[in-house]
Amino acid sequence: MMDGALPLIQDRIYDVIGVGFGPSNIALAIALEEQGRLENAVFLEAAPEASWHPDMALAGADIQHNPLRDFVTPRNPQSIYGFLSYLKAKGRLLDFLNLEAPFPPRSEYLGYVKWVAAQFNHAVRYDSAVTALTREVIDGIDLIRVVAGGREYLARNVSIGTGRSANIPAVFAPHMGHRVVHLTDYLSHAKAWMEEGVKHVTVVGGSQSGVEIILDLLGRSPSVQITSMTRSFGFKQKDLSPFTEAIYLPEFVDYFYNASIEKQQKMTAELWRSNYGAADHDVIEQLDMIMYEQKVTGVERLTLCANTLIEDISRTAEGRLRITARDAYSEERRSQLTDAIVVATGFRNFGSGDGREAYHPLMRGLSQACAYRSDGGVDVARDYSLKFADHAPAVPGQEPPKVFLNGLCEATHGFGDAGSFSLLWLRSTVITEALAGAVPCAAPAFAPFEKEEA
Ligand SMILES: Cc1cc2nc3c(=O)[nH]c(=O)nc-3n(C[C@H](O)[C@H](O)[C@H](O)COP(=O)(O)OP(=O)(O)OC[C@H]3O[C@@H](n4cnc5c(N)ncnc54)[C@H](O)[C@@H]3O)c2cc1C
Repeated sequence: MMDGALPLIQDRIYDVIGVGFGPSNIALAIALEEQGRLENAVFLEAAPEASWHPDMALAGADIQHNPLRDFVTPRNPQSIYGFLSYLKAKGRLLDFLNLEAPFPPRSEYLGYVKWVAAQFNHAVRYDSAVTALTREVIDGIDLIRVVAGGREYLARNVSIGTGRSANIPAVFAPHMGHRVVHLTDYLSHAKAWMEEGVKHVTVVGGSQSGVEIILDLLGRSPSVQITSMTRSFGFKQKDLSPFTEAIYLPEFVDYFYNASIEKQQKMTAELWRSNYGAADHDVIEQLDMIMYEQKVTGVERLTLCANTLIEDISRTAEGRLRITARDAYSEERRSQLTDAIVVATGFRNFGSGDGREAYHPLMRGLSQACAYRSDGGVDVARDYSLKFADHAPAVPGQEPPKVFLNGLCEATHGFGDAGSFSLLWLRSTVITEALAGAVPCAAPAFAPFEKEEA
C-alpha cells in the first residue's frame, strides 16, 4: 500500500496506460501490438464493456466516414483488425459489397468496434473509471500515478483517450439529470421518457446528432410532440466537398499544427461546417419531407424554431420545464413548456471562452505542471503529448513521462483529431513511434489544390 491509501499495483511500472478504451485507444492498442509493445500496456475503461457512443446507437443512422478509414487500414491494409476483416469474419462481406449505400449503418460499425475491442480483452480492465492522474517521482523515477476503480497504477507514459467533455451551455447546466440530457446520454433516457408518458421533448442544436434525435423521437411514439431549437437559420448541410475533406489527410495535420494560433482559429471557423453545426443531406431531406407531410395531413408533431437563443430554463410547480427564448434577429421572446430536453450541442475543445476548456477535467492533477497556449488551452507537442511547463519538477537527466492526449487535440492538430475516425490510424502510429523514442513520421507538405501527376 502506498501512503496507506489504495492498493497499488506495484509489481510493475507500465510502459503505457491507456485511459479509456474507446476508438482512440483501441487504435493505439492495435498499433502497439503491431510493434510488439502491447505486453507492458494496460487500458482502463470506465464502462463494463467496449462500445461506441451506445446512447446514440439509433436505428437507421449511418456512419459519416469512409468505413475503410477504420482503426488501421490506411496504415496496414493487411491488418486482421480492419473493417473488411470484420465483415469477412461475420460472413457479411459480399452483402456489404452489394449494399446500395455509401455508408454502413452505425449498428454495423458499433459491431466492428466491439469485435476489435474483444480481441484485446487481455489488455483491458473494464469497470475501471480513472479518477485522478498525477506526476510523481517514485524511487527516483519520473512517473504518472493513475487512480482507477479503487486501485493505483504507475506508468512511464499515459494515453488519455476519454473523448472530449460534453459541451453543456451554462443555461442547461443546473438542470442536467434524467429529464435534461446531453446527446451522449440520449437513448437510455428517451426509452424511459416514453414509458413515463412524456408528452413533449425539446431538441437543442442543429448538428447531425440533433436531426438524428428528432427523427428517432418521431418514430419512438406517435403521440410525443417535438420542438427543435437551433441558434442558426435552421439545419445547414455539411460541407462534404472532396476538397474540404482534404482535412482528413495526414498532411493537413502538419499544416494546421504549424500555423499560428490566430491562423488555426481562422481555419477552424472556415472549416467548421465540415463536421459541426451541420447535417448530412439524407437526414435533412427526411426532415424536410416530414415538415411537408405535416402541412398535407394537418397533423403537426414537429415544430422547428430557428434563430432561437435560449435565455432561461425553470421548473413549473407541476415539474415541467419552461424554456424562455429570444429570436436572434426580431428579438421577440417566447416561452415553451416541455417535459424533457436533449442538449445536442457537441463537445468542448481546448481553449478559453464559449464551449471550450483549458484542459480535460481528468487532467486537473497535472494542470499546475502544464504549459499553456495564449488561447488558454494546454499546449500539446506534435506527437500529441502534453507540454510541461519549465517550472514543472523534473528528474535531472531523465525524460519526463509522456501524457498523450489521444483524441482531444482538435484545437492544436485540426479537424479529424477528436470528432472523427478518419485519423485514428495516423494518431496511433505517431504515438507508438513517440513511445518507441522514434521521430514521428514526417508527412509530405500539405498542398490542398495540388493533384498527383497521372
Ligand atoms: C453520435 C456520434 C456519432 C459519431 N459518428 C461518427 C462517424 O460516423 N464517423 C466518424 O468518423 N466519427 C463519428 N463520431 C465521432 C467519433 O465517434 C469520435 O471521433 C470517436 O468516438 C472518438 O473516440 P474516442 O475513443 O476518442 O472517444 P469516445 O468514443 O468518447 O470513447 C472514450 C472512452 O473512454 C471511456 N472513458 C471516459 N472517461 C473515462 C475515465 N475517466 N476512465 C476510464 N474510461 C473513461 C468511455 O467510457 C469511452 O469508452 C461520432 C460521434 C458521436 C457523438
